[in-house]
Amino acid sequence: MAPHEPNPGETPPPVLSVVIPLLNEEEVLEQTYSSIKTHLDLLAEAYEIVFVDDGSTDRSRIILAEKARLDPTVRVVVLSRNFGHEMATTAGLHHARGECAVVMDADLQDPPELIAEMMKRWREGYQVVYGVRSKREEESALKKLTSFVFYRLMGKISDVPIPADTGDFRLMDRRVLDIYAKLEEDPRFFRGLISWVGFRQIGIPFIRQPRAAGRTKYRYSRLLKLALDTITAFSSLPALLITITAILCLVLSAVGAGTLLSLWAVRLIEIPAWGWAGLGFLGLWNIQFLSLAILGEYIIRTHKHTQRRPLFLVERVIEHRTPNE
Ligand code: UDP
Ligand code: MG
Repeated sequence: MAPHEPNPGETPPPVLSVVIPLLNEEEVLEQTYSSIKTHLDLLAEAYEIVFVDDGSTDRSRIILAEKARLDPTVRVVVLSRNFGHEMATTAGLHHARGECAVVMDADLQDPPELIAEMMKRWREGYQVVYGVRSKREEESALKKLTSFVFYRLMGKISDVPIPADTGDFRLMDRRVLDIYAKLEEDPRFFRGLISWVGFRQIGIPFIRQPRAAGRTKYRYSRLLKLALDTITAFSSLPALLITITAILCLVLSAVGAGTLLSLWAVRLIEIPAWGWAGLGFLGLWNIQFLSLAILGEYIIRTHKHTQRRPLFLVERVIEHRTPNE
């Protein structure tokens, strides 16, 4: 699909949009801007930088407004309040006009020098090029451990493969951007959805740098929320586990109760009054547990339907006259 058609008087769309969501990053913005600018100028491609101010309460907006005033390649999308990293990323991608877009953090943890390599891969025909963190510099042991466990767990239970150790730092082709713009689900997990889109994707390794300045905006409570959002959006395994457990309980109870009743029938054992009550409760409890599992199965289907993802995406149609690659 062609990039957005420019309106009369509007500058033609750039080749590359760099989208940077940020919250209260006044300490680092000047450095981020000049570093990214230096690397983008080396590319010799038409580009734009789209900063998304996700409801900052510090001087970030003032700094960015000044950059936009002096530099025609800078655009600043100011959100009305803090909507969170994922939504800020989505807002930035909605405003990106390039033939491709790179998403990166504002704190220089994602090295701008990698953009050149991403563009190279894109020119080779990859629609998504994602950075894979081969090493994390100076992050706390707890953060490294939680990330490690999270990615390995998601790798096992996710319905679509989400590559391990990838952040949001990635390049996407216009085709992918247009599809992503049409996805409406909330909560949305950017990396997961971009994996879900498919097409030709490739990872390139990089060393995750420490923050250039300022402090992380992600508290552990937010990471937990992100993990829960991701699991519920991309895995139906928890519901399946409940169903399997319910069936197992039912089978075990039936075998246990059946054995007791047969022994009682041939008069090998006596069942006291409380034993009959226990068997009754066990039966009722199993019916309840199974009902819960059945409800879960219906809810997971409703949940999938409400995500309103397209049923499938076609990369291309090959016909008699389609030339070979
Ligand atoms: N961020 C955002 N909105 C938020 C929280 C964070 O736009 O509500 C931005 C933040 O400014 C940074 C990026 O998301 O550009 C990643 O956040 P951070 O560096 O704090 O996370 P970490 O790298 O520590 O996981
Ligand atoms: Mg960071």
